[in-house]
Amino acid sequence: MSQNITTHTDKKLPLQGAGGADHAALADIFNKDEDRVNWHDETLWWIRAKRDLSVHKIPEWEALRDTASAIKNNVLSNLNSYLQQFEANAQANGIVIHWAADGAEHNAIVHSLIKKHNVTRMVKSKSMLTEELHLNEYLAENGIDVIDSDLGERIVQLAKEPPSHIVLPCIHKKKEEIGELFHQFLGTPAGNADPQFLTETARHHLRETFLSRKVALTGVNFAIAETGEFVVCTNEGNADMGAHLSDIHIASMGIEKIIPERKHLGVFLRLLTRSATGQPITTYSSHFSKPRDGQEMHIIIVDNGRTVQLGREDFRNSLKCIRCGACMNTCPVYRRSGGHSYHNAISGPIGAILAPNLDMEKYADLPFASTLCGSCSNVCPVKIDIHDQLYKWRQVIVQNGYAPTAKKLSMQAMATTLASPFAYHMAGKAGRLVMKYAPFALNNKLNPWYKQRDMPKPPDESFGEWYKKNRKAP
Ligand code: SF4
Repeated sequence: MSQNITTHTDKKLPLQGAGGADHAALADIFNKDEDRVNWHDETLWWIRAKRDLSVHKIPEWEALRDTASAIKNNVLSNLNSYLQQFEANAQANGIVIHWAADGAEHNAIVHSLIKKHNVTRMVKSKSMLTEELHLNEYLAENGIDVIDSDLGERIVQLAKEPPSHIVLPCIHKKKEEIGELFHQFLGTPAGNADPQFLTETARHHLRETFLSRKVALTGVNFAIAETGEFVVCTNEGNADMGAHLSDIHIASMGIEKIIPERKHLGVFLRLLTRSATGQPITTYSSHFSKPRDGQEMHIIIVDNGRTVQLGREDFRNSLKCIRCGACMNTCPVYRRSGGHSYHNAISGPIGAILAPNLDMEKYADLPFASTLCGSCSNVCPVKIDIHDQLYKWRQVIVQNGYAPTAKKLSMQAMATTLASPFAYHMAGKAGRLVMKYAPFALNNKLNPWYKQRDMPKPPDESFGEWYKKNRKAP
């Protein structure tokens, strides 16, 4: 029976069993509403198709992917020197640099900056890093009111849910549900689900927020070592509104966001939004290089497990991720299980690689939530070998003893059977007899394999038996 756990202070995800959240069990909850699953699947596939059309317009697409991957290889091999170069240049520009080893340090720095200026409210643009570090919940516990200014983020914030997708945070919600949330929290008429009307309402609501907040926090898409500036990409211009109207701009960045030179930026900007939504380029790619007169600008550079991942040879490539979401849009498992089933800030195939690095036991289920079809690796703009890494994580998880007991026992039984020709022969014979004379022993609800499949008709004999009978004399 499922129960609820609080993963953040006000965001609840269901938990199955005592061992921890489980992708399959959480996906079952999403799968109960078949219409929603079909719609979710088709919407994300439509975005994937838009991405394909957009990508095919660029003959040099594969060369761009190779270049981006090579730049990131260089970054990962020289991370310390690029970070130090970035720090020195940003400081010379008048930006204050902070370093945070983990979420607790990052959140404490943000809080101390807010406290120093004696305010209790902050506006925040979309930042998956702050989701990873549970910043909103931490600040709420400390009496700070945070408003997310990205429309999708604001919707899930009103619904007290975590985002279900890194680019499209409320892709799991239908417009009628959003109309109901706006009616409840923003006073729109009941039953009005007109997207244009709802967007207009959100715009008024957020403009009031921008005008009344002294502190704004943004994410960082790219930080340029050569110049000490950083770039934030949004489609709504909300990061710019928040940062330009605030007295204190705080930017939170993971250490992997560095690129060496400004000339490299064009490679990533061309890849990012085509991969994400099929747009040629993000609507706003804003460069922040120094605070305006009278403003304070702070950057918090965060590790939170990234250097551990850097040291895992098989998984270090995952740090090349530019968070475009293409691997989610194409993943047949993600599209039909929903982002919340990954019970982690970053969902989908790349989340299933990053999460076990943070907590192998808690996220041991995620690398198994994949068909290993390789579609994710095919679309990844920075050529991360995603499905190979998922396959490798499975081995690491089993070797570390985090596989579920049922899987461990069944694999041991399988290994014993396959290691002995006699045991294999007898097991095959027994299986064929059971399927023939007592099919209900397998075709029942206790067998998860049978739930969505028909068991095959058993053959009368095994291949070995047939071969013995029909083998021609030498
Ligand atoms: S792993 Fe690749 S496809 Fe997935 S979000 Fe990151 S960059 Fe995009």
